Amino acid sequence: MTDQKAEQEERSQYNYETFEEIMEELKAQDYDKVGLQGPDGIKDELIEFGSDLKEHGIEPVMIGASSFGACGIANEKAERMGADALVHVGHTRFLHPEGAEMNDVNVYYLPYREDRDLMGVLEEDYNKIEEQTVGLVGVTQYMDRADQAREFLESKGYNVVDGKKGLRTTEPGQVLGCDAGAAHNISHKVDAFVFLGSGEFHPSQVSEAGKKVYVVDPYERHIWIEPPNSLDDEMQAEYARVIKHKDKKRWGVVTSSKKGQNYMRAAEIAKEKLERHGKEVFLFVEDRIFESDYKGYNIDIYVNCACPRMTKDWQDLSFVSTRALDVLDEVEIEHE
Ligand code: SF4
Repeated sequence: MTDQKAEQEERSQYNYETFEEIMEELKAQDYDKVGLQGPDGIKDELIEFGSDLKEHGIEPVMIGASSFGACGIANEKAERMGADALVHVGHTRFLHPEGAEMNDVNVYYLPYREDRDLMGVLEEDYNKIEEQTVGLVGVTQYMDRADQAREFLESKGYNVVDGKKGLRTTEPGQVLGCDAGAAHNISHKVDAFVFLGSGEFHPSQVSEAGKKVYVVDPYERHIWIEPPNSLDDEMQAEYARVIKHKDKKRWGVVTSSKKGQNYMRAAEIAKEKLERHGKEVFLFVEDRIFESDYKGYNIDIYVNCACPRMTKDWQDLSFVSTRALDVLDEVEIEHE
């Protein structure tokens, strides 16, 4: 690889802060055609970016399907359309936990930053935080304000430990639905976490580090508390599903064809574990995973080796995480 090509490839793997910065890069590389991909909520912005590209003589290829994370990078679709590069809007670069390459084409990442008054909520409500030493983590949408949040908390006398990078993330302190490593890696140093963001899913992942989580929520406009280990009940429910089906002979193991959700190693490990327990195991693959696609195979229970956010009891079939299989080691199995 030439030095110039290597430098170009390296630059294309950055998280950028503005579309203008990316545009400068695209022009400098003299690209003719560029793919554009992003989540549902910002499609109006995506089409404006497409219009900007046209103005600069670059043909945009709009990727129609919504993306839920940079795990679903559409580089193959972009390539098939003859694009020289892909701009992925909404999320930071995603690192594959099993080490797969995520950059077949040049990808420029533009994470979405939510323009809500996060600091106003923290400043108004910070005295709910009882612990002296806190870890600072959050979702991408607010991590551009992590420095401000840290400085504010320190000015109020707190010791603040910055979150680290996780296995799949590229911003320090950033938490994904499938990766709360940013919190787990510092949990031994802190008494609680301050989480920048909203919704229950990510704070509950952070709570698995065994500490209370103070959620600075710009949607709810106050700080609320997620108790430690709040996912315990869900895990117990998953164990119960495995026990319910423990005597079933046929099991399915499902992974996704989306690049960042294609966990072949995890699928193989799950398959081997089930086979050790005498199961007949079938591997399944598809892009987006819906229960309806799994009816008719005469298999009642499937193991999720794709996005962990999807693990839940379906209406008629059961869908469990690989971790839930551990309970098979503790029960007696009689095949039906
Ligand atoms: S939680 Fe799921 S959708 Fe989000 S980044 Fe992880 S694999 Fe992708």
